[in-house]
Amino acid sequence: MADPKGFMSTPRQEWPRRPVDERVRDWNEVYVPGALLPIISKQADRCMDCGIPFCHHACPLGNLIPEWNGLVARGDWRAASDRLHATNNFPEFTGRLCPAPCEAGCVLAINQPAVTIKNVECAVADRAWEDGYVAPCPPERLSDRTVAVIGSGPTGLAAAQQLTRAGHTVVVYERDDRIGGLMRYGIPDFKMAKHHLDRRLEQMEAEGTRFRASTVVGRDIGADELRARYDAVVIATGATAWRELDVPGRELAGVHQAMEYLPPANRVCAGDLEVSPLSAAGRHVVIVGGGDTGADCLGTAVREGAASVTQLDIYAMPGTERDDETEPWPTYPKIYRLSAAHEEAATLWTAPAADADARLFGASTLRLTGDGSGHVRELHLVEVDARRRPLPGTDRTLPADLVLLALGFSGPDRRDGLIDQLGIELTPGGTIARDAHFATNVPGVFAAGDAARGQSLIVWAIAEGRAVAAAVDRYLMGSSELPAPVGPYDRPMKV
Ligand SMILES: Cc1cc2nc3c(=O)[nH]c(=O)nc-3n(C[C@H](O)[C@H](O)[C@H](O)COP(=O)(O)OP(=O)(O)OC[C@H]3O[C@@H](n4cnc5c(N)ncnc54)[C@H](O)[C@@H]3O)c2cc1C
Ligand code: SF4
Repeated sequence: MADPKGFMSTPRQEWPRRPVDERVRDWNEVYVPGALLPIISKQADRCMDCGIPFCHHACPLGNLIPEWNGLVARGDWRAASDRLHATNNFPEFTGRLCPAPCEAGCVLAINQPAVTIKNVECAVADRAWEDGYVAPCPPERLSDRTVAVIGSGPTGLAAAQQLTRAGHTVVVYERDDRIGGLMRYGIPDFKMAKHHLDRRLEQMEAEGTRFRASTVVGRDIGADELRARYDAVVIATGATAWRELDVPGRELAGVHQAMEYLPPANRVCAGDLEVSPLSAAGRHVVIVGGGDTGADCLGTAVREGAASVTQLDIYAMPGTERDDETEPWPTYPKIYRLSAAHEEAATLWTAPAADADARLFGASTLRLTGDGSGHVRELHLVEVDARRRPLPGTDRTLPADLVLLALGFSGPDRRDGLIDQLGIELTPGGTIARDAHFATNVPGVFAAGDAARGQSLIVWAIAEGRAVAAAVDRYLMGSSELPAPVGPYDRPMKV
């Protein structure tokens, strides 16, 4: 705390976004480049360095937030980077993508706007790269133990980096043609540019982690071979089995899952495709599902030049203030949030029959109807109450040439055969069952991230990757000095 009264004298100021009409014409990140560093030291100085830092406990990684806030306020960027990397392998990912439960737990947020913790984290991470503080950290000696990590999302990458640094020989298998999991194919470039991912992968390769892309474990390499070749296996395959919309007309052409729609848009940005085969250009788009995946579809459809976009959310519109009865501080509240994509929709369009930011709350899809060629043209919906009971007389129809389903994910994809070949037990909910040490029912096989936890967040994925690495290291060596966030790993996700 350079200024003990900073929280009284400095108002909260966030990293500004670029003007809507400028940013929807490209795929670059939505923030104004270079506008964060000039404001961030004063923002970090709003931190009160509380006796009990609830923000630190609210962060699944246990990030040492007040410590790096103080270091940034005093301009000691190198020490801030060291403290940040002590708990987070990839702070430039969370600094851009995390919903920041830490800020909901900030003591200042009891009666004032919270410290911009996520922005401070991003500034420390970006500055660390710019100033050359991020260097490969290869192990001093090798352990002679081998580990296969299946899946290269944030869970697999965090686990692999920790285990490589502990001296083990780690190979990461990925079925996609590029490494990165949902951060590569799923999360749009305007939320996080892929060069942040690429330079981390270069760091990891320089440390000794080996990557095998375009390799489906269960098909290209069998489970028996994997177990014979490696001393331990970490399953970090994500929760990619999507939920379906069970209504008449689902089979019509032009109805796609969000995760069929988003990856080709990533590939356009990567230069693999000229135009996405599912491009929303000129089409009336309806997104079924009110979550963040739906918002990513919205921002993508806006940039592709859709004629209109409407996002349906079955839940009622949340309030703008925390409900102290049901969601008291420092929990993460369900409140109305305007993401960058919703801000774009609100500025550019009045969507057909939707609210100002393109969202229709309390809306349930009844059926889809098409034209003579079997292509979807209309979506029929009805408004529902909090118990999802239809409200009489509220039926309506939206034009819909492209319907995107963003209804969440149920658990790991079993089609590759990996889970069955290994004989892995699942929970009743369909995720991989594991004990408190991340071990599955098969000796030497561990599970972490969305595959075991269920659909979650980048910050939880990194936390699980670090924790499973410590568990695997202990399994291989009898003890471990790898740090691990404390969880809880067994509770359903709140954020
Ligand atoms: C569209 C979208 C946007 C999101 N946006 C955000 C956000 O802004 N912020 C946030 O915090 N979270 C976000 N999330 C959630 C976040 O991306 C996930 O929680 C996180 O990526 C989970 O990490 P993971 O490593 O466990 O799994 P994943 O990232 O899903 O990675 C698993 C990897 O395993 C690979 N794989 C699967 N089976 C095999 C096999 N048999 N052999 C080889 N490889 C295999 C898959 O191809 C995949 O690359 C988003 C999710 C989606 C779908
Ligand atoms: S990782 Fe997320 S919760 Fe943790 S400090 Fe960063 S923004 Fe906050």
